[in-house]
Amino acid sequence: ARSTDDSGIVIIGLGRFGCHLAGSLTQLGHEVLAVDRSPDRVQRWSAQLDRVVQADATEEAALRQLGVADFGRVVVAIGASVEASVLSVLALTELGVPQIWARATSEKHAKILASVGAHHVVFPEAETGERVAHLIVSRMLDFIEFGDDFAIAKVPVPPSLVGRPLSELVPTERYGVMVVGAKLPGERFRYAGPETVLSPESVLIVEGTIDQVQRFATLS
Ligand code: ADP
Repeated sequence: ARSTDDSGIVIIGLGRFGCHLAGSLTQLGHEVLAVDRSPDRVQRWSAQLDRVVQADATEEAALRQLGVADFGRVVVAIGASVEASVLSVLALTELGVPQIWARATSEKHAKILASVGAHHVVFPEAETGERVAHLIVSRMLDFIEFGDDFAIAKVPVPPSLVGRPLSELVPTERYGVMVVGAKLPGERFRYAGPETVLSPESVLIVEGTIDQVQRFATLS
């Protein structure tokens, strides 16, 4: 049966990025229709994913026949071929798909995707590269940047702050960051308050500008 369910999502291109995306969406409980031009790829993923079909996504007629227009969201996950990626977005635009997500592999690619009608453009290599750079040069365990120079990071407690309650440390005044949560090994994250005492094993969630968060994560 064709899906008219809002939660149905089409993934075009089952390369390294597309297959992780399809797998994660399936785990999140969404119905996924995966499309790839290569019979080998279709064969390879048909055991793991519910619905995998072989089609050339640059062909509007093929997409129409698959009922792609009935899905609320379509993701073009093709990376290597800019031409196939752009032509697929164009075909989806002509079909009138309400939410077209597309993966870009360069700034220029991103611009073209937006100009042919992609509503959301993601740039996984650039985003991951930036995130991993932060992890490498500081003690951050994880880092997310939200744009507008706002970031959240997971950071071990800086040694100099161990053993004292947050109210004494005034991290907001001194470092600019806000300590939002703290976690001991094996426990869940708890919201941090003035009375939260930082133990050497604590892991913190801090928020602030990229610079502030980065500086906090390099404090010794
Ligand atoms: P990754 O970097 O994530 O591995 P690739 O760009 O190498 O991504 O893989 C893209 C996938 O998209 C491949 O499986 C390829 O067969 C598929 N693909 C490329 N062009 C089309 C197309 N026109 N229609 C459908 N699938 C396509």
